[in-house]
Amino acid sequence: MIKNFIDTSGIECYEDVSLKKYNTYKIDAKAKYLVFPKDSVELIRLISYLKSNNCKFLVLGNGSNVIFNFEYYDGVIIRLDRFNSISINDNVIEVGAGYSLIKLANEVALLGLSGLEFASGIPGCVGASVAMNAGAYNHSLAEVVESVMVLTPDNEIITMTGEELEFNYRESFFKYNKDYIILSCKIILSHGNKEEILELIKDRRVRRMESQPLNYPSAGSVFRNPEGNYAGKLIEDCGFKGYKLGGAMVSLKHANFIINYDGATGRDIVLLINKIRNSVKDKYNIDLILEQIIID
Ligand SMILES: Cc1cc2nc3c(=O)[nH]c(=O)nc-3n(C[C@H](O)[C@H](O)[C@H](O)COP(=O)(O)OP(=O)(O)OC[C@H]3O[C@@H](n4cnc5c(N)ncnc54)[C@H](O)[C@@H]3O)c2cc1C
Repeated sequence: MIKNFIDTSGIECYEDVSLKKYNTYKIDAKAKYLVFPKDSVELIRLISYLKSNNCKFLVLGNGSNVIFNFEYYDGVIIRLDRFNSISINDNVIEVGAGYSLIKLANEVALLGLSGLEFASGIPGCVGASVAMNAGAYNHSLAEVVESVMVLTPDNEIITMTGEELEFNYRESFFKYNKDYIILSCKIILSHGNKEEILELIKDRRVRRMESQPLNYPSAGSVFRNPEGNYAGKLIEDCGFKGYKLGGAMVSLKHANFIINYDGATGRDIVLLINKIRNSVKDKYNIDLILEQIIID
């Protein structure tokens, strides 16, 4: 049935496709369909169809904060890569949900616009990153996002601003309202000194390269830092550095990173996460909170 819709709608679609290049863990799971709607009209048509036919679907960004805990996704993975428009008017940026956050942070830096320096090493798309309230070095997108254009579960396009976005540490309204899809985002930056902005970005790149295992596939920090503590330190103190489970391994460089060391499956990663959680709970009575999202 979906096949009929896809064939007649003309939407860009791939069938029985490997998702390896669509997640930064490089988990080699497959999806029944991977689709790239070209605009909101096509997206609305697709989602109405999927909902009225009870088809499973997931909107995916760059796959840099997810764990594919399946071998085969019997549904539709939707990527918003074509939602990649950008307009920059003085210090006001309107940018599509599929735009790369790293690209955006570097482009605005070259214009001497300040406020996204922290984001220059976060390998997500703008839409998903706003939904996650991505951040680093005590800054986050909440500080610069003015409003977002959103597709609601009733297939209406609305603008959401300020308190409606319910930004919090690594979360927002969208974390608990998965059927709202961010289509684009309005960001307001401040004018700064271009050289200083570029220097800060360079400094942070060096810090990331020194402290994170960027030469292996991962999805960034696995757990949030508990109040007054560091997840990496607790995991290291439980003896997990270098610990392997299947093809997954706790990084030797940073214990709050799990890396795909050798053909890891989502299951390997999830089992390792559970093992770490149990050990930290047993030893320190601390419940580690997962920062990554498990997709079943
Ligand atoms: C090496 C490395 C370093 C990292 N460093 C950081 C860091 O410093 N700080 C940080 O915060 N994160 C970091 N991350 C994690 C990750 O990059 C961020 O969370 C990023 O914002 C996720 O964006 P994404 O496009 O990859 O989202 P995805 O992983 O594709 O999706 C995340 C969630 O957003 C949902 N989603 C996707 N698109 C939309 C949309 N348009 N509207 C609503 N919901 C949507 C998805 O369904 C999913 O639930 C790092 C990851 C890696 C691999």
